[in-house]
Amino acid sequence: MNAGTAEDLRAIVTELLSCNQMDAVVDRLAAIVQASDDAIISKSLAGTILSWNPAAERIYGYAEAEALGQPISIIVPADLSNEIPAIMQRLRNGERIEHYETMRRKKNGQCFPVSISWSPLKNAAGKVVGAAGIARDITERKRAEELIRESERRYRTLIDTIPQLVWTCKPDGACDYLSPQWVAYTGIPAREHIGFGWVEQLHPEDRDRVHTAWMESVQESRDFDIEFRLRRADGAYRWFKSRGVPIRSEAGRIIKWQGTSTDLQEKKETEEALQRVHEDLARRAEELARSNRELEQFAYVASHDLQEPLRMVASYLELLSQRYKGRLDEKADKFIDYAVDGAVRMKALIDGLLGYSRVATRARSLALVESRGALDEARTNLGRTIGEKGAVVTSDALPLVLADHAQLVQVFQNLIGNALKFCAGPPLVHVAVEPKGEEWVFSVRDNGIGIARECWERIFAIFQRLHGRDKYPGTGMGLAICKTVVERHGGRIWVESRPGEGSTFFFTLPVTGKKSS
Ligand code: ADP
Repeated sequence: MNAGTAEDLRAIVTELLSCNQMDAVVDRLAAIVQASDDAIISKSLAGTILSWNPAAERIYGYAEAEALGQPISIIVPADLSNEIPAIMQRLRNGERIEHYETMRRKKNGQCFPVSISWSPLKNAAGKVVGAAGIARDITERKRAEELIRESERRYRTLIDTIPQLVWTCKPDGACDYLSPQWVAYTGIPAREHIGFGWVEQLHPEDRDRVHTAWMESVQESRDFDIEFRLRRADGAYRWFKSRGVPIRSEAGRIIKWQGTSTDLQEKKETEEALQRVHEDLARRAEELARSNRELEQFAYVASHDLQEPLRMVASYLELLSQRYKGRLDEKADKFIDYAVDGAVRMKALIDGLLGYSRVATRARSLALVESRGALDEARTNLGRTIGEKGAVVTSDALPLVLADHAQLVQVFQNLIGNALKFCAGPPLVHVAVEPKGEEWVFSVRDNGIGIARECWERIFAIFQRLHGRDKYPGTGMGLAICKTVVERHGGRIWVESRPGEGSTFFFTLPVTGKKSS
């Protein structure tokens, strides 16, 4: 029963009394006492219990019959025994005691918190003869208060220990709290920044932007999220990211804004450094691409322009050979042979170089093609050699790939051509493919002479050969062309081999389709 209801009750009683309806008054009061959720007890001045309602039975655990006539001390914890005389003294003086919070003891010995209001009971002569007490079990309320305090403690500990600067603002956007971290960072007492004083702490170039954004968030009840520079105690500015969210009441009304400001300086510096590295890399890549283009252009022009004088040298040598062979001395014949041989080699080298530079200059855009078709074309081109050598060329089912068809034919042709060339007996060549992650891994396996471990990388460079021309003809351009083509397609190429047992050349292409038969 709270103060309000006590007042109401008094008003009812006064009214009833004024109507001289004494019985009705007593009945009403008795009914109220019986029905109350609060323990209502009366006692004599000596502290003897005179009345005990059902709520008192529930709360204290004593039945009415057990409690009546007992000293009030049966429900007072031993360590509070001197509380009663003090209260009785105040009541004797006619004083009312409202919402007095203390502890009480149940019949089973358990102590619990109560809020008690005491009123002195007077006789007709106005003399205090006892007291009536209304007690409410406040265990739940105390527990809830303790929970709130605990949660408040946890919140404060969190705010005091997190690296972020924490702030709160009133619904109108005026700051009303700044955490100790803010004060430590700025070196300025919080009171100077409360309200809108914090704006002064921002970098002059950021002030208007941040203040406007904040007021917009407040007006539109939107989350606040912004980056700005904040002055540190030593005058240095560091980048911060502030985030603020409105805290709403159950009815949805904003009761507070809660926010944090996080130091972004290191992140910004790392980002800037990364950006610089990125730009540097992009510039170098561009330079490299340009110098590659120039080189390709040079290789193309040089080999192309060399063709014409070479053709002239070759045809005159041919003429010389036809007209004068056998008519000069033996030495002259040999010299002519050497010169013809040199011209033929030079033509092969120039053709190779031209082919190499054409990988880039004659490249067509990539399209979905059947790798099977490219392999068949390469096999047809090599038909005569396959027949002469009695070679067997087999293959797996091959997939659809994103490629330049003509260049893929060239890769198969160079690899199979080598497999046929670098072989002691009848060549057995197998082309296989396997998906691996995001790539197709193609392989061309042979039963040829093999390649020593230390040469596995070198053979992909231009003009690199492991044997004399007299033994195996060639220019050393075939694998260099394969490497350029595969890399242009976003793949890699490598070899695994055992001398005397054969070699397997692998190359990858990005996966784009499924295997077809
Ligand atoms: P070329 O075939 O004109 O000599 P390549 O660039 O195609 O030039 O090959 C470079 C070298 O790698 C060859 O000279 C040879 O020594 C070695 N090679 C290439 N393919 C094979 C293979 N299948 N088996 C053994 N050696 C090979």
